[in-house]
Amino acid sequence: MDFFLKSDFEAYLVGGIIRDTLLGRKTHDIDISVHGDAIKAATELNKIIRGKLEIHKDFGTATILKNRTRIDIAMTRDEIYPKPGALPQVFESDIHGDLRRRDFSINAMALALNRKKLRFLDPFFGMKYLNERLIRVIHPKSFLDDPTRIFRALRYKNRLNFKLESKTEKLLIEAVWLRVLKKVSKQRILNELKLICKEKTYLKTLKDLHHYEIFEFNMKKLNLIKKIPDDLKCYYFLSLLEDKFPLSNEEERIVSNFRNLERIRNTLKSAKINSDIYYALHNVDERVIKVLNRLYKGLRQKIRKFYRLRRIKPIIRGDDLLALSIKPGPIFREILSGIHKMQLDGLVKSKHDATQIIKKWLNVS
Ligand code: ATP
Repeated sequence: MDFFLKSDFEAYLVGGIIRDTLLGRKTHDIDISVHGDAIKAATELNKIIRGKLEIHKDFGTATILKNRTRIDIAMTRDEIYPKPGALPQVFESDIHGDLRRRDFSINAMALALNRKKLRFLDPFFGMKYLNERLIRVIHPKSFLDDPTRIFRALRYKNRLNFKLESKTEKLLIEAVWLRVLKKVSKQRILNELKLICKEKTYLKTLKDLHHYEIFEFNMKKLNLIKKIPDDLKCYYFLSLLEDKFPLSNEEERIVSNFRNLERIRNTLKSAKINSDIYYALHNVDERVIKVLNRLYKGLRQKIRKFYRLRRIKPIIRGDDLLALSIKPGPIFREILSGIHKMQLDGLVKSKHDATQIIKKWLNVS
């Protein structure tokens, strides 16, 4: 901070760091708004800090990473929302515009890092609402402009153990009622859900999503989330929703595995022979198998067996079928999996035996 106190940059400490410091909470994230050239300010600051500097030219922002601390430096800017839920048009402004564009009063306080004296700016009564432990939007259109603030409001409420200020709660309910979240991209909603699931108080917030009718899902099934490892909680939650989200193939598989958890469990439970055990789990993500192992103690032996079976290499491959002059097609898969199953169950032990069986099958058909 000394750097800004001695420099000519018009810089302000803003957002979470002010809120958290006033609440006596630790934070490793520092947000600084600079009226003017933020990238230049970041570059000069980093000459002293000697951290890792990342410049985002398109956004006119920069980040300095040093140990566990992250400093985000941006130009003071204001925003206009051309239509509800759309991304805002951003333009340069002074600190007042910069604070006005923010989500909640408690996030809209600033400390001017001025050469002459430190000045505390609190145009939206952040201190008052901090003392009253209330989440309050800055203006009535806030949730309509940016509906992701609905998630943010509930996340902060539970993290800080605050309440929604009564008018803010009404505005939130109204926004949900108006289905504003339909106007937001699924990617942005997914980002918010991931942030919620990273919080210690994630469960309260997920319950709030149900309470405020933001998402419909089975509350009984939600309770199982307590037993799901932290890095998978969000995928478990997504598996309770009907909405589709833009997920990677791996994420999609985990969500689908969670959706079928009961079915997978039952199939495995009733599996009697090796091939049934193998095929009950062969499409299940490794991490979900670990969850099954933790949740259902009775499945342990079968899961251990699956790990052993998985190491067995198929005795017959596609090349072998080509060598037998079999034309590639759906029959390939049938033969390969048929032989593989027999191999797992110990019914075929050598390539020679397998080839004889295949020949017999083909003559019959
Ligand atoms: P934390 O990182 O601990 O969750 P934070 O307050 O630092 O809290 P960020 O998401 O890093 O949260 O955002 C930094 C600041 O930017 C916020 O304090 C808030 O003032 C502002 N902000 C972030 N997202 C929005 C939004 N959707 N609408 C308005 N202001 C926002």
